[in-house]
Amino acid sequence: MSGTKGRLDWMMRMPAEVEDAYERAHGADRVTHLRRSILIGLIVYNIYNLTSLFLMADIQPTTVALRLGLLTPGSLLLFWAIRRVNAQWRERLLFVGMLVAALLPPYLLWLSNSVYASYTLGEFPLVLLFGNMLLVLRFRYALMLTTTTCIAALLVVYTKQTIEPALLFPLTVQLVSGLFFTLYGNWHAERQRARGFLAQYDAENRAEEAEREGVALRDISRTDMLTGIPNRRHLDEHLPGLFKDGEDHVLLMVDVDYFKAYNDACGHQEGDACLKRIAAALADFADRHQGFAARYGGEEFTLILPGDVKTGGAFLADRLVRRIRALSIAHPARPDGLSRITVSIGYAGTDETREMTALIEKADRALYEAKRAGRGLAKAG
Ligand code: GH3
Ligand code: MG
Ligand code: MG
Repeated sequence: MSGTKGRLDWMMRMPAEVEDAYERAHGADRVTHLRRSILIGLIVYNIYNLTSLFLMADIQPTTVALRLGLLTPGSLLLFWAIRRVNAQWRERLLFVGMLVAALLPPYLLWLSNSVYASYTLGEFPLVLLFGNMLLVLRFRYALMLTTTTCIAALLVVYTKQTIEPALLFPLTVQLVSGLFFTLYGNWHAERQRARGFLAQYDAENRAEEAEREGVALRDISRTDMLTGIPNRRHLDEHLPGLFKDGEDHVLLMVDVDYFKAYNDACGHQEGDACLKRIAAALADFADRHQGFAARYGGEEFTLILPGDVKTGGAFLADRLVRRIRALSIAHPARPDGLSRITVSIGYAGTDETREMTALIEKADRALYEAKRAGRGLAKAG
């Protein structure tokens, strides 16, 4: 995964999917902060109506009209809208609102012929301080806002007859540095925000990826390579759970009959194919009974099915014996004269013993009995 630096463009934009994640995590907080700031800004902005009473008395009705009649309703509209539009539009609308708010003071300065009007220049950086550092416009918008305001302000300053020529240079330096300090502040805040979030985003992704890999590895290590059903390790993990919940379960040990002879007659590959078919049938049987099937090892399998030996064990085990016989896999080398693959089953239930080793031993002994009794049948432990 690439580092944080390479994933931010020079305008501090994060990749789109990260931006979306940021919005999901922090969008609501930002809207709350923006709405609160807009109200504060609006109050302060209208206080400038009072300052212009002293500094721009000649155009006082215009300043009041523009601030109260244009900026105030515009800001209230923004206050209403930013909660209702998506993040992209929210940031665009903020930019437009700030542009109007920042261009209004230069415009008023240009209109006024008052000798004190140039003192309103002190307001210009304050408006940008609000947009760039309090609202923290996205950096690209802060850049456009600052540049536009700077050009507009300088145009007014240099075309204004009422400003002393001797003041032009110092005023320019104050204005430009004031405006760009706020832009620098914005750049810094935006960089912190983007870098911080990218680092967090990458860390979360890495953790998720590691978890996915871990799960995949765990799945592989618990799956039998030949048949694709759970292996002995998985069975060992599964078994203790049986004794925890209150429900009863039947454990069935299933062994393929005369499988060595089958292998010898048909070849090892046919033997593998046969084991796969049997495993699939056992897994399906377990699924249908909300149970669990695993390859115990070799040609032996274990099934765990909900139920108890007294009422349902024999029924389930006999059904399973018939189910495998119904696969009709030809066995050409049985010494007992039959011609199909069969399994023998020994079973025992948690209603008989609640001790795991005892349960397995009981089912194993029953399997041995089933073999002795002729194979192709099921015996209870
Ligand atoms: P019984 O009816 O008494 O169970 O006789 P059996 O021949 O099935 O039992 P035995 O334990 O003598 O032989 C089991 C055979 O299963 C021996 C081995 O070659 C075969 N086997 C075990 N695992 C695999 C496997 O993964 N693939 C194949 N093809 N054969 C296997
Ligand atoms: Mg065996
Ligand atoms: Mg066998």
